[in-house]
Amino acid sequence: MKGTMLYGPRDVRFEERPDPKIIEPTDAIIKLSAACVCGSDLWPYRGVDPVKQPVPMGHEYVGIVEEVGSAVRNIKPGQFVVGSFFASDNTCEICQAGYQSSCIHRQPGAPTGAQAQYARIPLADGTLVATPDIPADDLIPSLLTASDVLGTGWFAADAANVKPGSTVAVVGDGAVGLLGMLSAKQMGAERIIAMSRHETRQQLAREFGATDIVIERGDEGVAQIKDMTNGIGAHSVIEAVGTQEAMMQAIRSTRPGGYVGFVGVLHGVEIPGEEFFFSHVHLHGGPAPVRRYLPELINLIWSRKINPGKVFDLTLPLEQVVEGYRAMDERRAIKALLRP
Ligand SMILES: [Zn+2]
Repeated sequence: MKGTMLYGPRDVRFEERPDPKIIEPTDAIIKLSAACVCGSDLWPYRGVDPVKQPVPMGHEYVGIVEEVGSAVRNIKPGQFVVGSFFASDNTCEICQAGYQSSCIHRQPGAPTGAQAQYARIPLADGTLVATPDIPADDLIPSLLTASDVLGTGWFAADAANVKPGSTVAVVGDGAVGLLGMLSAKQMGAERIIAMSRHETRQQLAREFGATDIVIERGDEGVAQIKDMTNGIGAHSVIEAVGTQEAMMQAIRSTRPGGYVGFVGVLHGVEIPGEEFFFSHVHLHGGPAPVRRYLPELINLIWSRKINPGKVFDLTLPLEQVVEGYRAMDERRAIKALLRP
């Protein structure tokens, strides 16, 4: 088969790879129906996360099950399935509590890489969720978002304790931030403030439910949020970037007693202890337990109540994956969809 490998900074290649095979009896092999490039793929692509040896890329996936191992009971060949970037047994105490991305048997969700024609998925019964039927082609992009960016945006809104009537601020206008806005709207937020300075992203933010746009960043951005909330800050803030500036902007935009849901992978962030102590802000986040939300998200997409697939503003054939990385790196695209 062909798949995507990262060799070093800005050196991504689409090349011949070994066909994935069942290794453990709990594995499944899927044929990808669509794949995509994740904002988090840009960290190693840009060399921020060092790459010591060539690594298979891609961790968001939907597809048709080709083959299952001898111990797989529920997932069957021919099913259309959605998974996530961590494989989990969905039975341990941590999974049962809804934190499948910290499963005690956690493994990478697609260790052979999902920007490829086929992928091996470990712990298939725990990791994969089958759709009611083979989806219409136009639902596939939305189902693919459930695998990571939507699941992560949803977790961010949930971790930020978004409730009906809430005022929510969103730091970050990438795919996760935008889908955090969609999630907040579904959860009944009354006011959703998008912090974004890019016009095309502001438009999509409004389509997904943003009621206000703030273009300022850092302290000026915080001051704007305070101005809009009687000087006290938002009930809930979604942090979907992962930098020092974004995290502090999120904490300082939150009212005392409010919540920050942080899902941008933190890089070099240090939170001043004394300021945090006196902030009375709840912090919750980390790698999203996407598996917890998959049944609900698949249902919302299947019934066409939400259309998160709009976040893909570039569609390329899978073999042009390199251009997908470039377009996202140069911020020419929010998110690149790859079709085999
Ligand atoms: Zn588990």
